[in-house]
Amino acid sequence: MPIEAIRRLPKVELHVHLDTSVRPCTVGELGARQGIQMPEQLEPALIAPPLCDNLADYLTRVDLALQVLQTEDALERVAYELAEDMAAEGMVYAEIRYAPQLCIRRSLNMQQVIDAVDAGLRAAQQDFGVRTGQIICCLRHDPSHLSHEVAQYAIANWAPGKVVGLDLAADEAVYGGSPHRTAFRLARGVGMPRTVHAGEAAGAESVREAIELLEAQRIGHGVNLQQDPSLFAPVRVRHITLEMCPTSNVQTRAVKTLAAHPIDRYMRYGLPVTVNTDGRTTSNTTLTREFARLSEQFGWGLDQVKQTTLDAASSAFLSEEERAELRRIILERWPAE
Ligand SMILES: [Zn+2]
Repeated sequence: MPIEAIRRLPKVELHVHLDTSVRPCTVGELGARQGIQMPEQLEPALIAPPLCDNLADYLTRVDLALQVLQTEDALERVAYELAEDMAAEGMVYAEIRYAPQLCIRRSLNMQQVIDAVDAGLRAAQQDFGVRTGQIICCLRHDPSHLSHEVAQYAIANWAPGKVVGLDLAADEAVYGGSPHRTAFRLARGVGMPRTVHAGEAAGAESVREAIELLEAQRIGHGVNLQQDPSLFAPVRVRHITLEMCPTSNVQTRAVKTLAAHPIDRYMRYGLPVTVNTDGRTTSNTTLTREFARLSEQFGWGLDQVKQTTLDAASSAFLSEEERAELRRIILERWPAE
């Protein structure tokens, strides 16, 4: 499929991190304005190589952006710019995630962080028409009481167009999910939607833990689900959507090559899969490019892009009515075949 044709298609993204999607020039400008020493070359500090040592290595590329994301102005600006970049490639709805506890190193509290991101996203919706929601991330290496506090902030801000869900992120190879059980129980108790990064740096047992212990309704990545085919049936029957990020999955060595990526097999098996960027800057990609790579590798055409886009709309952390409305918008803008 020609990349320009993909760019024009209406799209939905469920898995993109704010702090790994900051424009490199913006990091430079914010750093200069805040008096932070910046490396001479910004891009090598922010963009991960095509092959990292592992997930932990990939995650080091977020450090520089986080240094500048400690003020309301900076957070509002990067949220606005991310939504602007998404709108430029046809995004109609996106869920943007980040960990507010990483942005309180100077003077902000978590509420101010969430409000600043909200202000940027609302302004972008006004200017570019792209609808968004925030997903708040607990971090695997954080103590359980901090995750509990993060979940409380997420719930307090749970409203259409503001916070829409809770996530668990960070280095899955080293840290299990069980310390975050009370945070996820809290979200589950009030009916707040939940997703968990699993089956990326750890095996299928991590996906099982995400589904059974943390009661995740979506899985971030889920590449290693294939290690335990007994999980396929519950994932399919309960419609647990996999938020897959092909380029990132190769970079972090969750898969050896794009050709070995299970997304095409999963889709043919009837598992709900969606395509995502993970980090537009860290993975040096766009959703358009992710689809172009899948088209080149697996021969995906309009049908596959449409199916994964509608699956993303159906799995968005929205009400049933809003999901139906999103599907209607996608179908209305979809080119006639
Ligand atoms: Zn992620």
